[in-house]
Amino acid sequence: MTRVALLGATGSIGRQAIEIVETNPGLELVAAASGSESIDGLAPWTQVGGDLTELLERAEPDVVLNAVVGFAGLPATLWTLERGVTLALANKESLVAAGELALAARERGGGLLLPVDSEHSALFQCLEGRRAEEVDSLVLTASGGPFRGRRRDELVDVTPEQALAHPTWRMGRKITVDSATLANKGLELIEAHFLFGVAYEQIDVVIHPTSVVHGLARFRDGASLAHLGYPDMRVPISFALTYPERAPTSVARLELAGTTLEFLAPDVETFSLLRLAREAGERGGTLPCVFNAANEVAVEAFLDGRLPFLGIADAVDEALAASDGAPARDLSDLVEADAAARRIAAEVGA
Ligand code: NAD
Ligand code: MG
Repeated sequence: MTRVALLGATGSIGRQAIEIVETNPGLELVAAASGSESIDGLAPWTQVGGDLTELLERAEPDVVLNAVVGFAGLPATLWTLERGVTLALANKESLVAAGELALAARERGGGLLLPVDSEHSALFQCLEGRRAEEVDSLVLTASGGPFRGRRRDELVDVTPEQALAHPTWRMGRKITVDSATLANKGLELIEAHFLFGVAYEQIDVVIHPTSVVHGLARFRDGASLAHLGYPDMRVPISFALTYPERAPTSVARLELAGTTLEFLAPDVETFSLLRLAREAGERGGTLPCVFNAANEVAVEAFLDGRLPFLGIADAVDEALAASDGAPARDLSDLVEADAAARRIAAEVGA
């Protein structure tokens, strides 16, 4: 029996994870946490808000599925990696903000870090058993979101409601807006860099409107391996919770006849957050943390109607420009960089 702790149990990933746990007799939910919603009785140990590492200490899980949204997921990510407990990571923001600290904690803990983000789960599977020198480059696919094909002047007045209408995935509000700006793919670029130890210039992003190919790895012999399936997060959730096994799920099997596989270059002039993320990642230090913090604040402001859609990129740009990006020595340095970026981003458009 695998003892699962589920953080972010009431969210989009959390609810799908509960379904996976309920249908798999080898998985047992021992702990669950949410940010503010009541989850009484969902698991033997539950917690609403507060320090999630206290819950993890009590519950002694075999696997922690971190499906909290945002920087708030960071302490749980570090706790899990430090102790060598398997981390099934949906909370990409924690790895983006604290890449070096997280990898150092994994090194000390010696446990598994299994991506739940669909593209990274796909790439993890394509890369399994391969040595670093065999890998030429990686490709992350992006649906392009609801505004794919639009130019800047066509994005001036878009509303939260329009941004929340994602064409292929049903997800939480924050990641859905991130998909509309392509900030999500920027976060995923940095996430892939840390997960797979691949240089930024060896990670490409391509727009793929139907979200059937989730990731592709190119190798030095000219072969490329891709991971395909209908867009359904239950597949990467189940894979991470049952690894190295592949457990059965009720997800529909892929039918290639009638499936469209189209790929286009991303428009990084219009969707400048993808370019800003790449620059922040390449320059490194605390800049990925700054990128993430400013983006979180700006997305919140956009959803509240306080900031126009294009203002999200402006806020991130300003926060990055104001930061020296000096590397974080410890968690408190990161918390400071995160807070400073939030202050700057909050002033944009205010
Ligand atoms: P969501 O908004 O639907 O759910 C977020 C969950 O986090 C909720 O249960 C909420 O209560 C909890 N939470 C928020 N703040 C918290 C705090 N301080 N302490 C404890 N719990 C807190 O978000 P989601 O779409 O499920 O996404 C969760 C994470 O997974 C994000 O990092 C997202 O980028 C990533 N992700 C999601 C999807 C998807 O399909 N939804 C796909 C890939 C990656
Ligand atoms: Mg993804």
